[in-house]
Amino acid sequence: VAKRLENFKTTIFTQMSMLAIKHGAINLGQGFPNFDGPEFVKEAAIQAIKDGKNQYARGYGVAEFNDAVAARFRKDTGLVVDPEKEVTVTTGCTEAIAATMLGLINPGDEVIVFAPFYDSYQATLSMAGAKIRSITLRPPDFAVPIDQFRSIISKNTRAVLINTPHNPTGKMFSREELSIIASLCIENDVLVFTDEVYDKLAFEMDHISMASLPGMYERTVTMNSLGKTFSLTGWKIGWAIAPPHLTWGVRQAHSFLTFATSTPMQWAAAVALRAPDSYFEELKRDYLAKKAILVEGLHAVGFKVFPSSGTYFVVVDHTPFGFENDIAFCEHLIKEVGVVAIPTSVFYLNPEDGKNLVRFTFCKDEETLRSAVERMKEKL
Ligand code: GLN
Repeated sequence: VAKRLENFKTTIFTQMSMLAIKHGAINLGQGFPNFDGPEFVKEAAIQAIKDGKNQYARGYGVAEFNDAVAARFRKDTGLVVDPEKEVTVTTGCTEAIAATMLGLINPGDEVIVFAPFYDSYQATLSMAGAKIRSITLRPPDFAVPIDQFRSIISKNTRAVLINTPHNPTGKMFSREELSIIASLCIENDVLVFTDEVYDKLAFEMDHISMASLPGMYERTVTMNSLGKTFSLTGWKIGWAIAPPHLTWGVRQAHSFLTFATSTPMQWAAAVALRAPDSYFEELKRDYLAKKAILVEGLHAVGFKVFPSSGTYFVVVDHTPFGFENDIAFCEHLIKEVGVVAIPTSVFYLNPEDGKNLVRFTFCKDEETLRSAVERMKEKL
């Protein structure tokens, strides 16, 4: 394997899902719903296939879908973007992330990330040859340590990577945090790459897009996807929204990574994004009920549970149970209790920072969540 990837292992999500199957454990690890996406979107995909929308899509997206992305973004943020020049459709947000890094980062460029961070950030930054500067967000509230951020950002910084609502902690960046980050980015001429795939799973506060802050649109790439909002994580439909001068870089990388994304699924995704408000309200209602079951359950089991404002994840401190670290705890949980969680130490440059924390997901039906809690009450 090439040097730029030799330190990366099989992703923790794949490892944990394989162990879940092997041990017959309930999988509250990898974030994918165990229920299906909405009928009207699935029907739209079937119809698109039947209608012969089956050849290569235009590289940067099926026009109807680019339009739907721009319309959605306008509704959510108030920003008016040109669907032809500022929206790029990608194969999931994961490809948007890769295309953004590869299309806009030069080898040696400094990029600031907030740990814990989603695993693909580090891998794609490494592929791009970036120098990673990591700032650790710490419990209980995972607030941005502004003084540390101020001391690290400089004219040598090319970009700051933000993820809000944040995987794995459920933290949402407040307007105050975003404003300070924004003003330092403007002062130092730094770009912002923002992964907002959980924007529709914002429970405790309103989601704020960095691009909507004054002076920020022109230096921001906003990335999102269909998977979480429509419970269709296997469709792999994502997008990046950015001003034309940044879109150019993203599109150049995208052209040679995947060239184009599934045509019929884009047609269906266009229908999905135009769903009535009631769809998004119901999604949130359903997830709030699931979240309550898991969070109350984890408290009752005896974990220290950290407040999660958004996403379908919640992070706990496992140390009341006496294990050496998150990996040892998760191994015990799988083998002896029959429940899978995600150890978080893999999401830090310094794994020590995450050794007390594990992540559970509540994107499962209520019965599954209840049985997982019962197992933990009984056997942990
Ligand atoms: N985003 C999902 C999670 O955090 C996993 C995606 C993946 O398996 N790579 O659980």
